[in-house]
Amino acid sequence: MLDRIDHVGVATENLEGAIALYEGSFGMPVAHRETVESQGVEAVLLDVGEGHVELLAPLGPDTPVGKFLAKKGPGLHHVAYAVSDIEDTLSKLKEAGVEMIDNEPRVGIRDSRVAFLHPKATGGVLTEIVEPAH
Ligand code: ZN
Repeated sequence: MLDRIDHVGVATENLEGAIALYEGSFGMPVAHRETVESQGVEAVLLDVGEGHVELLAPLGPDTPVGKFLAKKGPGLHHVAYAVSDIEDTLSKLKEAGVEMIDNEPRVGIRDSRVAFLHPKATGGVLTEIVEPAH
């Protein structure tokens, strides 16, 4: 059902510093940069093999990532799995009783469609399902 790990999301208060680490020190090329208003973040995707690291900086303290940083500080934020049919995946997860944050897909970075599962349902790991744009 889940095809592969698409990306790991990393929350940071210092986007340029994080880019300096991942691009400058780790040698991962920046593939995309976008402000995703609906999620309250500025996001930067860097390539690593077929996957990505997604750096996330909040647009304000009342956004989900802003609240995460206030509570937990910078660090690993979520894991995202790629799927080919997000509706089908979400309906299977609902059938299995997995609690959702998003009952319906919403627009994510690079015109992908995404939905988050509730960390209460996933052992504390915020989990994202992503159907990349075709
Ligand atoms: Zn993500």
